Amino acid sequence: MLDHPFVIIVLVVLATLLLQHFIVARPHEKQASRALERTIERGVKPLSRHPQIDPTKCLLCRACVTACPEFADGMGPLAVVDGRLSLVNPLQCVGHAECEAACPTGAITVGLGELENDPTMPRITAENESIVPGVFVIGELGGVPLIRNAIAHGKAVIATIAARLADAGPAPPEAHDVLIVGLGPAGLSASLAAQEAGLRYIAIEQGALGGTVSNYPRQKVVLTRSVELPLLGDVLEHEVSKENLLAIWSRAVEQWKIRVRLRERVESVRRQEGGLFHVKTSKARYRARTIVLAVGRRGTPRKLGVPGEERTKVTYALIDPRNFQGKKILIVGGGDSAIEAALVLSHENEVSVSYRRDSFFRLHERNARGIAEAIARKALAVHFESEVTAIGEREVALRTKEGARSLPNDYVFVLIGGEPPFAFLRSLGVIPDEASEAAPA
Ligand SMILES: Cc1cc2nc3c(=O)[nH]c(=O)nc-3n(C[C@H](O)[C@H](O)[C@H](O)COP(=O)(O)OP(=O)(O)OC[C@H]3O[C@@H](n4cnc5c(N)ncnc54)[C@H](O)[C@@H]3O)c2cc1C
Repeated sequence: MLDHPFVIIVLVVLATLLLQHFIVARPHEKQASRALERTIERGVKPLSRHPQIDPTKCLLCRACVTACPEFADGMGPLAVVDGRLSLVNPLQCVGHAECEAACPTGAITVGLGELENDPTMPRITAENESIVPGVFVIGELGGVPLIRNAIAHGKAVIATIAARLADAGPAPPEAHDVLIVGLGPAGLSASLAAQEAGLRYIAIEQGALGGTVSNYPRQKVVLTRSVELPLLGDVLEHEVSKENLLAIWSRAVEQWKIRVRLRERVESVRRQEGGLFHVKTSKARYRARTIVLAVGRRGTPRKLGVPGEERTKVTYALIDPRNFQGKKILIVGGGDSAIEAALVLSHENEVSVSYRRDSFFRLHERNARGIAEAIARKALAVHFESEVTAIGEREVALRTKEGARSLPNDYVFVLIGGEPPFAFLRSLGVIPDEASEAAPA
């Protein structure tokens, strides 16, 4: 009977399923279980809309797990751990909501969930106005992720402001109708819409055009359907990469002479007598009738605050490792992003890592293993309990427990996390004073 073709087919299918379970699913479940432990241990929360799971409806079919566009190499934001579907990697979730669409039983809804009660999440009206009249919140800061949504927010908020200001009469001289803070997708869309609406506006960005998009890895596909941009219309017809999108935005800013100020940080916003907002930046002061906050929730990269940090060889993200070959590179930091950068760059460069602790702390297991192997092979050097004290043109000065050291250097990557914009939001009154400073891990 065992040589009957039907029995053979059934046995082959069973064997394949068992192999799949032991070789693929089990290791991934272990990996997911460790990711969930780390998430709980560090109290990591999602940054914006994310899946809410109703375990009573969940069949554990994993359709949601693999439907996520962020799923790669067996892991995504969602995974089944100990017989329960969980959000194991909250920061990997960017709110696509494909999981909700893929779920056959309606066990998943994508929304703000527990973030609704998070004091660091600004309360906003349906018109995106915060609890401070005249201050509007758009994009990821309002809990709505994705480029497409940020673009829609930017257009909608300017339509609201234009209608309101039309009723309020002309602006006092030298005051802007609207001052936009942040030039990620939300702030850019608002700037283009403000130009289209003929408003007096200014948009201020502390870094480069594009916000979070400019820090994506090289050639990442960012849009798979067309979106309509103010002034430009339906320009994005096919799959759009990060580079295409940034080029479209840069051309638009140039062509329409969009009033942007780059590398200028908004430091404070105060409402003064007469209802105008007085805005102080790192370079100037402005007055505006309304403020649009499009600052995201990811925060500003932390800096070292040492002499020489302003040199162009110092950067705060690794976008494309292929741009570095045969260089002397210092990575500052000991978290996952610092170690990932150190490992990938060590293939073709001379890499040193400066870390202030005496050992690595809560690294992703893959990175912990990778860096231990790299140290053993002498593929890179790690200076524990060290601090950068100055950055020169061709060298970096370190304070180490053995005393001062100077390392020959071509590039420095400072990967020591970010400062979320909570203090800034509290000073504006957009979030309450008790809102915690805690940054996502
Ligand atoms: C790794 C990753 C991959 C993603 N992939 C996709 C994807 O494929 N498709 C997609 O649709 N979405 C994706 N997203 C989500 C998307 O990037 C965000 O939803 C979107 O960028 C939010 O836009 P935003 O304009 O609200 O904020 P951001 O893009 O975060 O821009 C905020 C800007 O405000 C500036 N800023 C902050 N504070 C100040 C200040 N005080 N003064 C001046 N400027 C300030 C910042 O420098 C920044 O440029 C991804 C996110 C991440 C992290």
